[in-house]
Amino acid sequence: MLSPAALAERDGPACWLCGNDVDPGAPRGAREAGSVDHVVPRARGGGDEDANLRLAHRVCNSRRGSRLPELDWPADVPVVDHAEIWPVVRRAVRRPGEWEVVGVVVGDDGRRQAQDWLGRAVPEVLGGAWEVQARELGPGLTSLALRTTTPRTLGTRRRRR
Ligand SMILES: [Zn+2]
Repeated sequence: MLSPAALAERDGPACWLCGNDVDPGAPRGAREAGSVDHVVPRARGGGDEDANLRLAHRVCNSRRGSRLPELDWPADVPVVDHAEIWPVVRRAVRRPGEWEVVGVVVGDDGRRQAQDWLGRAVPEVLGGAWEVQARELGPGLTSLALRTTTPRTLGTRRRRR
């Protein structure tokens, strides 16, 4: 599993929960020291994959516990066939670079609205880099998919055996 130091190098030295810097010189065990946080908590089925790990202060990490951040479709987005977002995100985090379908929307405005919301909310809540893909299914119907492109999970620095 990646260390706090490796996460600081990958994503920058900030806590992904509060946004403040993590002091690499802080004594281990100190509240302000860096720790490894699971985006999808282990208690909720998250694993140790690189894309599921973020740098967080110990104090922020333990305050968060195994709660999942809020991530639900807004009521005004016209999603006709929507997947629950967390299970989709969990699969996407497990398989970086692979598209996971998250819903089907109606109309051009709907597509734009849903695409904008996903493109903003998902990286905000989850950190890391995300892409949203729209694929036309038929007249006025678009399927939307998500994937994470968080660096180092796409094979650029994969360890060799
Ligand atoms: Zn913090």
